[in-house]
Amino acid sequence: MVKNCEALIEVKNLKKYFHVGNSQTLKAVDNVSFEIYKGETFGLVGESGCGKSTTGRTIMGLIEATSGYVLYEGKDVQHGKKSKRNRKELYRKMQMIFQDPYASLNPRMTVSDIIAEGIDIHGLARNFDDRLKKVFNLLETVGLNREHANRYPHEFSGGQRQRIGIARALAVEPDFIIADEPISALDVSIQAQVVNLMKELQQERNITYLFIAHDLSMVKFISDRIGVMYLGSIVELAESNRLYEEPLHPYTKVLLSAIPQPDPVTERRRERIIPKGDIPSPINPPSGCRFHTRCPLAMNICKTSEPKLLNIKEDQWVACHLY
Ligand code: SF4
Repeated sequence: MVKNCEALIEVKNLKKYFHVGNSQTLKAVDNVSFEIYKGETFGLVGESGCGKSTTGRTIMGLIEATSGYVLYEGKDVQHGKKSKRNRKELYRKMQMIFQDPYASLNPRMTVSDIIAEGIDIHGLARNFDDRLKKVFNLLETVGLNREHANRYPHEFSGGQRQRIGIARALAVEPDFIIADEPISALDVSIQAQVVNLMKELQQERNITYLFIAHDLSMVKFISDRIGVMYLGSIVELAESNRLYEEPLHPYTKVLLSAIPQPDPVTERRRERIIPKGDIPSPINPPSGCRFHTRCPLAMNICKTSEPKLLNIKEDQWVACHLY
């Protein structure tokens, strides 16, 4: 069950369109609405190109929305960032962890300077010794040690680099972290370690996460609620256990059927649902239900009428004409 229903983030009718030449428009995010409650992890899942990362970057204010808005504790993020002071404070409270720990750390900076960058920008250390003490504490918090402070990113493994990225985000004591595919570049054995670290930090520091992923396998272990995106829209949103036990949307069922099972007997019985064809272009998405060109259960109405996201059961919303 979801513990706390007080919203930290409210996303309302968010749209982000990109003009891509020849008068064409790519509808990366098309009328998306959801809330993220204080202290929870909200998972946002979908295939590459479905708009989940653009949603995350628009929430952060890194990309300007075409329309709709994002509220952080009731304050408009896009307009709030127009005032220099508000912008700085919002950037402190909202941090990001990136997919590629190789690309997101400056190779010419020591780990100490990478982690302390935010501390310097926000004036969070009293003096050099205080700054160094904070860096040492952060390294230990993420499972590294103080000897790592003067090394450079190339001296670390992928999992260690992601830990450095997490320490950098934590350095400014944020309330909200967007983790954009933080484990997809890591070995499976390391993925669980990073997810467990993020869970521990959440419990200690009451951090709220938006956890973005392209499949449903690891998201279950960290998310309280999950939104499934397809071609710029949320097609199902549910409490995490409910989504895994009673998925309603045909696309959610496709994603769930793709997860390999650790138990060999269950794995042998797993029936993979393969959708027809490839994901269509968001430049010219299908009419009606955007999934109708691939859906095994499509009906005539699906070609012409776009289903609305409706509250079908407690903690479960779905956009499909079957319900
Ligand atoms: Fe499939 Fe129709 Fe439901 Fe879309 S609305 S997911 S095409 S059954």
